[in-house]
Formats: sequence, C-alpha cells, structure tokens
Amino acid sequence: MSDHTPQSAVTVLGLGPMGRALAGAFLDAGLRTTVWNRTPGKGRELAERGAVVAVSAEEAVAASELTVICVVNYDASDAILRREEVTAALKGRTLVNLSADIPDRSRSTADWASGHGIRYLDGAIMTPTTTIGTPASVFLYSGPAGLHQEHRPVLDALNGTHTHLGEDIGRAAAYDIALLDLFWTAMAGFTHALALARAEGISARELAPFAQGIGAILPPLFEQSAGEVDNGSYSGEGNPLTSAVSTMAHVVHASEAHGIDASLMRAAESTARRAIGLGHGDDGLTRMAEVLGRR
Ligand code: NDP
Repeated sequence: MSDHTPQSAVTVLGLGPMGRALAGAFLDAGLRTTVWNRTPGKGRELAERGAVVAVSAEEAVAASELTVICVVNYDASDAILRREEVTAALKGRTLVNLSADIPDRSRSTADWASGHGIRYLDGAIMTPTTTIGTPASVFLYSGPAGLHQEHRPVLDALNGTHTHLGEDIGRAAAYDIALLDLFWTAMAGFTHALALARAEGISARELAPFAQGIGAILPPLFEQSAGEVDNGSYSGEGNPLTSAVSTMAHVVHASEAHGIDASLMRAAESTARRAIGLGHGDDGLTRMAEVLGRR
C-alpha cells in the first residue's frame, strides 16, 4: 500500500474462519476493508472481493481508525499487537478485540492499551461464522460506552445484534465464558447421550427428534430459574433434588454398564448429593449453582 491509499473504514487482523467472515461482511456492506493474517495467503478470496491485503500488521492498523482483531486467543492477539511497530501504529486509534479468552486477559489488554494511548473495546462473538452478516449474529461488547457508540456505524455493518454490556472491560468475556460453559457442557451432554443411545441400539437420527424436544424445554426453564437464582428461592416444586439425583444415577449406571465413561454425569451427581447433604434435598436443581459457588 502506498501513502496515497485512501483510508479504510475498518481493518481486520486475523483471517481464520471468523476473521474471514467478519471481513467478508464488512465488504458486503460496502466498507473499504483492510485485512492481514500471520500466515499469508488467507486473504486471497477477500482481495478478489475488494479487500486491501496489507503486508504487515502495522501497515494494516495504519490503514483505518478502527481495527478489529479476531484470532484464536489473547496469547495470539498479544503476539500480534504487542510488537513495537504495531503498538505504535495503534496509538490514537481504536482497537476492538473479538478473540475469545478469559476476563482477566481483557483487563490486562485494556491496561496495556491505555498505557500506549490506544482506545480499547473488548468483545465476544456468540454465534457461528455462518451467521456473520445476517440478523442471526450476536456480538457482545464491554468498555467505554462512548467508544462503542462512536464505532456503531461500522460495527453495525456486521448485521445482527450488538449489545454493550457495561464499562467493566471484562464483562463481555465474562458473559462469553459463562455461555461457553453452558454450550460445551450441553454439547458434551448431547454427544454422551448419542453414545449411550447407540450402545442401546438407538441411532442418532432416531434420538434426534426427542433430543430436540428436550432442547425446547430449556428456554422457559432458564427464564424461570434465573429469577429463582437471583432471589435465592431455588424452588424444588415438581422436581426436587432428591428425585433429580436418582435419574442422574441411572445415567451413570447405564453408561458404565456399557463401558462408557460417565464422569460428566458423575460430576453433576456429586454436586447434587453435596447439596442434599447440606440439607437442600427439597430444593430444585438451581440450588446447585449456589452450592457450586460456595468457597
Ligand atoms: P481460530 O480460533 O482457529 O483462529 C485462527 C486465527 O488465529 C488465524 O488468523 C490464525 O493465524 C490466528 N493465530 C493463531 N495463533 C496465532 C499466533 N500465535 N499469532 C498470530 N496469529 C495466530 O479460528 P476462528 O477464526 O474461527 O476463531 C477466531 C476467534 O473467534 C476465536 O477466539 C474463536 O473462539 C472465536 N469464535 C469463533 C467462532 C466460530 O464459529 N469459528 C464462533 C464464535 C467465536 P494463522 O492463519 O497464521 O494460523
């Protein structure tokens, strides 16, 4: 790129599946987009669609007021951003880190950014690459509200919902980590159920419609449980822990009889039994959240 290249609206650092989806959505929205990736070659298709492929991260950063980075984690984003030339190029510009990691990494990145005159927003993407650029995509942000507002016109080009969760820079990552906890344990439960069903001669296709039925029960339960957890009522009406734990034990026994590892359900069963031992057997499953949180 020469000094005469017009400024881009946005720079995307990181061209894995998600970075490519983000850059593609910016391009589809008609924004001049500069991209860079550690391993060259991944921007070829984006270049055909009009992206400017920078030869270095510092050149990419210098091309736009707003840089969005989306790489595997904050070790990777540090490896890119904390190189002297890149840090210098970011000075006075805005950086949005959409890579996933733990809240402490967001906080330490914000400290580093403020120490180098970089305006910093943290963020998380809650939906798969296929949703990016569509109304189904979900983005969470935390950090200075004014900064988020200022860059909304560009970020909104990604389509979907963009929620600013507050000024605590670690908040988006905190939502992300809690929601990933839910997603991965749910998917681990699903894959375990498939293995158990298979051992009983039930195919995944046969189980799937009933699995969807179980999935559909969850959203109203989440809503009802949220109130109970926040007001500390943990109602066990209809399904006390003493009853729930016995069906957890059935899953453990049936799995182990087939030689299938049941440690996931054993962990849940052990927390339920601990809650019962602490005198909460009449409470509902949500009591486990309180017991797990005890130090
Ligand atoms: P990856 O998580 O595999 O990230 C790949 C990107 O990270 C590539 O650009 C890769 O560069 C870069 N990278 C890895 N290590 C380093 C390093 N040490 N230094 C510099 N760059 C590095 O794929 P995605 O693009 O899918 O994910 C990016 C982020 O988005 C992740 O944090 C992920 O959790 C999050 N996310 C992804 C979703 C998805 O559906 N894929 C959904 C929601 C969030 P190189 O090509 O050079 O290896």
